[in-house]
Amino acid sequence: MTSLAQTVSCIDGYDPDALHVDKARAAILACITPVSQAESVAVRDALGRVLAQEIVPAINVPSHDNSAMDGYAVRFSDLEKPLKEIGTALAGKPFSGKVGDGECVRVMTGAVMPAGTDTVVIQEVVKKEGGCIVVPPGQKRAQNVRYAGEDLQQGKPVLGNGKLLRPAELGLIASLGIGEVKVKRRLRVALFATGDELASIGTSLKDGEVYDSNRYTVHGMLSRLGVEIVDLGVVRDNPAKLEAAFRKASSADAIITTGGVSVGEADFIKQMMAKLGEVLFWKIAMRPGRPMAFGKIGNSYLFGLPGNPVAVMVTFYAFVRDALLHLSGRTDEAFPALQAVSAQNIRKVPGRTEYQRGVLFRERNQWQVRTTGQQGSGVLRSMSEANCFIVLEHERGNVQAGETVQVQLMEGLA
Ligand code: AMP
Ligand code: MG
Repeated sequence: MTSLAQTVSCIDGYDPDALHVDKARAAILACITPVSQAESVAVRDALGRVLAQEIVPAINVPSHDNSAMDGYAVRFSDLEKPLKEIGTALAGKPFSGKVGDGECVRVMTGAVMPAGTDTVVIQEVVKKEGGCIVVPPGQKRAQNVRYAGEDLQQGKPVLGNGKLLRPAELGLIASLGIGEVKVKRRLRVALFATGDELASIGTSLKDGEVYDSNRYTVHGMLSRLGVEIVDLGVVRDNPAKLEAAFRKASSADAIITTGGVSVGEADFIKQMMAKLGEVLFWKIAMRPGRPMAFGKIGNSYLFGLPGNPVAVMVTFYAFVRDALLHLSGRTDEAFPALQAVSAQNIRKVPGRTEYQRGVLFRERNQWQVRTTGQQGSGVLRSMSEANCFIVLEHERGNVQAGETVQVQLMEGLA
């Protein structure tokens, strides 16, 4: 088996001590093999799951040519003369006869196009004269008709393996009369927070302690991804306790830890990791979130995130989210970045990617963005006040007000 170290060494420009964000992302994705096991679920229960089969329509949708409007089904070549209304077709109640020269049929939206007709005239423009209708000029052949297979064509694959199932896909699958689909199995992700200074909710704070908030943000971020969560609580900075926690966590598909990867703390963790699996320790050229560990313990992928609360969230969104989506078998495109105009000067040094917390707002018909103010990696309030990240690229220097910057929306991402 290829080691992680071998896999990542093939990435051009890989430098564990000053790792470009894009290289770190590439390194992680290169090391991850998506899950392959699948299960069958009812369509309604498949929301948010990842398709594990190809959907090839066995029927056309719609199955018949039908009217897109309420009106009259006519023969386009007859339109000059008054047309005799010879019957009605409703959705689900077709007209059984054939429409001949000088005839028409009253149709409702969704009604099968009566035999012999090719065009629908909307009811609002038609003049009724006795049992006949008179159609004004200006109609187009084939107007207001929906054709069989216009939505889904029999035999033409419509959803691929790896597709995320959103509400639209559930409806689409149902429109084919399919009641059950194969989806990838759900990921199991274990998490724990490390730190001697961490107090749990329900206890009173002793001198120098902080309440553990990371486990709550990580739990929330994982919940949004729809994975099964195994919460292993707070683990003290003690080699034996940490080792036991890692062993327990390694039955999951992935392990997320917070804290303990900064330079001062990482040494004993490194030694222990070497016993348990293969873990790479990185210094990433980013802010916040410089130190991070990535590796494998047994079959479980480890993401050792920094301890600072904002760094936890930023590294999760920058690396872990995409990694877990890839692991879950999803094949969709990365979350898009948008462009906005910076409403202020922003200080930035070239040589690292910054994820400033921003507020995107619309003013004078233009999308603009400002920072939330204080950007310390311990100021979790900056995440709460933000609706986006302002992603300042690696090479970029100071930003002047009025310049365009990249933003990544939190809604949908988070
Ligand atoms: P570390 O990376 O373990 O050195 O932690 C960096 C900073 O993050 C320290 O100030 C920690 O107190 C803080 N921190 C670590 N873990 C947590 C946590 N679970 N909840 C809140 N703050 C934390
Ligand atoms: Mg710590």
